[in-house]
Amino acid sequence: MTDGRVHDVLVVGAGFAGLYAVHASRAAGLDVVCLEAGDGVGGTWYFNRYPGARCDVESVDYSYSFDEQLQNDWPWSERYATQPEILAYLEHVADRFGLREHVRLGTRVDAAEFDESASAWTVRTAAGEEHSARHLLFATGSLSAPNKPRIPGIDEFAGETYYTARWPDPHPSLAGKRVGVIGTGSSGIQSVPLLAEEAASLTVFQRTANYSVPALNRRLTDADQARIRAEYPERRRRARLSGGGSPHVPYPKRAAECTPEEREAALEEGWRAGGVLFGKTFPDQYTDLESNDHARRFAERKIRELVEDPQTAEDLIPTDHPLGTKRICTDSGYFEAFNHPHVALVNLRRDPLVRITPDGAETRGGHHPLDVLVCATGFDAMTGALTRIDIRGPRGARLAETWAEGPVTYLGLQVPGFPNLFTVNGPGAPSVLSNMVLTAEQQVDWILRFVREADARGATQVEPRDDAAEKWTAHVQEAADATLFPRAESWYLGANIPGKPRRFMPYVAGLGAYTARCEEIRDGGYEGFLLTTR
Ligand code: NAP
Repeated sequence: MTDGRVHDVLVVGAGFAGLYAVHASRAAGLDVVCLEAGDGVGGTWYFNRYPGARCDVESVDYSYSFDEQLQNDWPWSERYATQPEILAYLEHVADRFGLREHVRLGTRVDAAEFDESASAWTVRTAAGEEHSARHLLFATGSLSAPNKPRIPGIDEFAGETYYTARWPDPHPSLAGKRVGVIGTGSSGIQSVPLLAEEAASLTVFQRTANYSVPALNRRLTDADQARIRAEYPERRRRARLSGGGSPHVPYPKRAAECTPEEREAALEEGWRAGGVLFGKTFPDQYTDLESNDHARRFAERKIRELVEDPQTAEDLIPTDHPLGTKRICTDSGYFEAFNHPHVALVNLRRDPLVRITPDGAETRGGHHPLDVLVCATGFDAMTGALTRIDIRGPRGARLAETWAEGPVTYLGLQVPGFPNLFTVNGPGAPSVLSNMVLTAEQQVDWILRFVREADARGATQVEPRDDAAEKWTAHVQEAADATLFPRAESWYLGANIPGKPRRFMPYVAGLGAYTARCEEIRDGGYEGFLLTTR
């Protein structure tokens, strides 16, 4: 089945980026259709319903900026909104801007092929439908393809198995049950305190300890709302110029320029402010190991203060990466949860996981009986959502094969050999190292202006030159190599997926620098891109 039309734009995914792409396409006078695998809009915020799921960027920043009235109308109730509130916001946006009629839910895209003679993409869905469009825009998310851990016996577990990234709705009762959690990234760290409240016992299986800073979440008062509304234009302006897409200002000195007392006071202030920005207390924290060490030792002291059992505290302290080089986590009571007698930590570095059995988890040290297994085991990040789709370019090239050695993009927007295909928050863009909502708005606006420019010039196909993409990809890697990020075995470089090629994927220079480069290229006549007419 097909709707028989060749749309101007086909958007895959109806999360933050996809919904904005639909809205902006319509505003640009383009005919758009959006295909979404989930049975509702929201993307990440539709699927990640695990207990404790919330945003770790302040909601007033992690929200659309394209419509001032929307921005002023939506009253974020907490500093860091919960998943249900963010989902309600996205549903509101879909209704408010009339986006739903352009979105087909429950429609998973399995394949996409470019027809060179028609200069159009045809995508095939899991149900066998076909849809065509001149331009294909993947808004499939950077963290949306769940990683199923390769643990012997995992499929033979006879109890209930849940993935944080596909948490069931309604929430399954865990009362009276023995729950095990594998994974201590953001999803595990956010969910542990709530799982501990509900379960009869909770065993956390930790392979790599992670840094986490108290979120210090709080309700936003009417006075907060009024202040935020008054500050919004300036707040957004600063966010767009910043690295991380929020109006953060680091301490005005590098760590080495401070006296020990001053350094301690700055770190204490950063810790008390709460949240991920502790990772950016000093301006050189991601580039200077000594500066990072100050913050790392400070965080370690905090963990020792929060956790009563000294061995558990030591096990919870990361040993293998500088602070923040794996995405720093924020929590509400994570370390304190281990002070409860029914919560146990298993350090898999000392006591490795051997297999999952039908009734629990076996480590070298013994058997842990479980009724419920929770996998907070992350994602095939940045590329997984794209390479799981059979994407074929005009000369038969398959994206998964083209990226066999790692993703190559120009500006994180396009891939040579795949004309009229765009990625939002993809590899080579600031994406996960920035505020994904503002980066999505910036990229979608840029893409649509490019599409209209191509139309104005009568060009039917747009794609980057090989050399431009190779140069950009090398630049993304060099930018990362100038920081401490590559010192961690992180999902930023694909290290969490066995066999995945190592390439640092997000662009560390940040939103402000990235936007400036995109604008420079646009104003220079789209240097590095090929615009052709068939
Ligand atoms: P993650 O950071 O990749 O963490 C996955 C965890 O599972 C790691 O602790 C990993 O250990 C462990 N793991 C994976 N395979 C394993 C195996 N076979 N055996 C034992 N342990 C295994 O994934 P995530 O927590 O879902 O977070 C991913 C990203 O999503 C975050 O970094 C963040 O950017 C985003 N996120 C954001 C929020 C928020 O805004 N609040 C919430 C959740 C997620 P190793 O480290 O040893 O591989």
